[in-house]
Order: sequence, then structure tokens, then C-alpha cells
Amino acid sequence: MFTLRAAVMWTVNDFPAYTMVSGWSTKGYMACLVCKEDVTSGWHAGKVCYLGHRRWLPWDHEWREKDKEFDGNTERRLRPREWSGDEIVEQLNRLDFAPFGKTVNRTRPSTHMNWTHKPMFFELPYWSKLKLRHNLDVMHVEKNVFDTLVGTILDIEGKTKDTIKARLDLERMGIRRGLWMNRDSDKARRDLAFFSLKPNDKKEFLKFVSSVTFPDGYASNIARCVNIDGGKFTGLKSHDCHVFMQRLLPVGIRHLLPEDVVKPIMLLSRFFSQLTAKTLRKTDILQLRHDIVQVLCKFEMIFPPAFFTSMMHVMVHLPEEALLAGPVNYRWMYPIERLLGELKKSGLGFRVQGLRDENTCLVAQSLPRTGLRDETHRVRRAISPELSPSTLPLWTLSENILGVFARRCTSSSRNLSQPFSWDDFSIHLDCEFLRILRDDNCDFVAQYHQNFHPHSSSV
Ligand SMILES: [Zn+2]
Repeated sequence: MFTLRAAVMWTVNDFPAYTMVSGWSTKGYMACLVCKEDVTSGWHAGKVCYLGHRRWLPWDHEWREKDKEFDGNTERRLRPREWSGDEIVEQLNRLDFAPFGKTVNRTRPSTHMNWTHKPMFFELPYWSKLKLRHNLDVMHVEKNVFDTLVGTILDIEGKTKDTIKARLDLERMGIRRGLWMNRDSDKARRDLAFFSLKPNDKKEFLKFVSSVTFPDGYASNIARCVNIDGGKFTGLKSHDCHVFMQRLLPVGIRHLLPEDVVKPIMLLSRFFSQLTAKTLRKTDILQLRHDIVQVLCKFEMIFPPAFFTSMMHVMVHLPEEALLAGPVNYRWMYPIERLLGELKKSGLGFRVQGLRDENTCLVAQSLPRTGLRDETHRVRRAISPELSPSTLPLWTLSENILGVFARRCTSSSRNLSQPFSWDDFSIHLDCEFLRILRDDNCDFVAQYHQNFHPHSSSV
């Protein structure tokens, strides 16, 4: 027997921090850590965009032959191949990296592709054997996707990806003639696209959002973020976007936009809802893997290329990660951010800041075990106290505009409103790590046993 005191299984970090923990830069034409140099990217409307999601379709899918509906080309390529940990180590060992420091010239030679340094995690003997080393944080991905999507369909200035540059880019590519600049008069102008809400519909949608109230503990008061006169949202937090994306968006827009636009958005909403469920079945994840490719391909037919930021692209990898590592709620930043908030309140601010700077979730045994409660502030209390918890409606509407909240929901598949437990988290980590060792790293377990416990007879 041996005592396994602590082990790093994987990191949970936002996309910019990926560079630091993985050594692969998340900027430029090869920003995706999974696809690496094989990602499909291009320069559109003044920035790098990531298209080509037809590569994940079956090789004989009819969409592969369409050109004008997509980026003007047919698609014959297969999906990018996956790199094994050993291949990565081998490649990193061949490269020379400049030492860290502000005075060092940071221009990378082309042979380095997006590698910036060899991460220290590879000093761990098992690190290259892991199938998943760094998690894409679904909390940040969902927030960024939501901002892009809602900013575009509401045509919010500064947030929309449907800009004049994007329209000119469509003209340059010779696709989507209906979205080209209107040059009927002396001055070219950008007409409202078919995927954006008309001004009256936009107002109706914002009124609908501002009229929704939630039961205590479910969400914060999203109505405070709605600016009806300004036609925009202000101050939406990550969890607001989470609730908005999964509950309000598909309901609010379904009668206001064309069916071809609404369907993929509803599918995207369901994708996040199922992906972030407390329990995941393998068959469900395989279905999600199929769904997200459909969503991204349909988006490619609807929105201009400028819409496809790196955050849009990485959604295609989320089901694969869930297949490898299990439910998302153990691998995203919500519990960590809440714990950091609690610790800050308890006067451990400097340590909290240290953890936040690293943007990495490690098993931190020295931190005090703090029971977290999902306290919501500034919530509009719409539920009368005499209602029992089992009969609480999921939503209460002061103005039932679309008539969709008649059904009462007595349970939720998510556990965000339940107290976060470090014990559950730790047990999950232990089980997962031992499972990984057992499944894929038998040699490592034997080697570890021989090196550190040579006199014991079994592991
Ligand atoms: Zn990728």
C-alpha cells in the first residue's frame, strides 16, 4: 500500500490562462489548444476567426458540398487529429525556448508554432499519460458565447459581430448577397440583418426579460441589468448569463426571429443545459457531440464569419472533455470562484489573490473547509413564505407575455443552489484520478509502487 497525498489531475482555467498552464498560446491563427496547427482560421473583419466546423460532419454529409451557403468553399477535410501527451513532450523537447524575463525578445520562430514554453506540469511523471490535462472552463465559454450571440441578435452597438466590416467581408468573399451593404442611395448603409431583432421586437424581448422574477436562490435579479430605453444589458454576471442562456433566451426569441435562426439557438441552449447537468450519460454526451456540430454549421450559414470567435470554436470540444472527465460541475470555476469569495470575506484575501492570479485549481489541502451557501443578494422576492419548497414554481412572472410559464417545475437537474461540499469534490477527484491510473496508466502505477514502496507487496 502507499499513501497518495495529493496529485494534480488537471487544471481548470479560463481561456487566456491556457497559455500559462499549457504552454500553447491562445492567440493568433492557431489559438485552439486541441486542434493546434490544424485549426481552420482566417482573417475576417479585422480579426482572426475560426470556421470550418463541417470537418466534424460525416465525410458524406450533404453540407460538405455546399459552398455559397458557407464560406464559398466545399469541405473535404476530416476533423483535426488529436495529439497524444507523448507526442507533445517529444515536440517540446526539440524546441529551444528563451528564458523568462521582460528583457527577452519574445518573437517566436515559426517552428515553435504557438508553443511559448514547456510547462512545468510535464515534470510530473504521469502528466503526459493523462488524456485530459487542461479543462476548457464551461463557465467562461458559456458567458462569452452568450455575449457574442445576444449582442448580435439584439444588434447592440459595440457587442454585435454584424458590423460594417463584417458586411464588407461578405462582399469580399462573394457570399450571402442579401447581407451586403445597401448602396441604393449616395451613402452605403448597413440594413438590419434577418437574424437581428427589429426595434419593436427588441423592446418586447427586453420587457419580457425585465418582467421575469426567480425564486430565492435560483438566480440574481436579472431585471436590474436590463436597459429597455438603451436597448441593451449592463452588468450581467457569469451566472446571469448561464440562466439567461438556458432558460430565458430560447423562450424569449422563439416568436420574434425566423424559425431557421431560432432552431439552432434553441439547440445551443439545450446543449448547455444538458452539458451542465448534474448527471451525464454517455449516450447523452454522444448526442451533444452531434448537436454542437449541427449548431455551429447552421450558425456558419446564418452569421457572418466575424461571429466565430475562438470561444465559439472551442464549444466543439466540450462534449469530448465531458466524455473523458465526467460532469462539468466538478470542472468549472463556479465553486472555485464562490470559495474564493468566501475566503476573501474571511480575511484570507492575499492567499485568494494568489490563487486567482494562478488561475489554476489545485487540490489545496491547507485551505479551510468552508461550507458555501448560495446566497443571492438583491433578489426580488416573488415567492410568498407560506409556499412549501416542493411547490415553488421555477419562475414567477408579473406579466406573462408569451404564456410559457404555466407548467410548474419541482426539480432542477443542476446543483448550483445546493451547498458546495469540498468532501464531495475531494471524493470525486480521488475516484477520477484512481480511475485514470487504473485505465490508462498501469505501468505508471507499477513504477510508482516500485520506486517509492519497494518493500510492500501490493498496491
Ligand atoms: Zn479546436
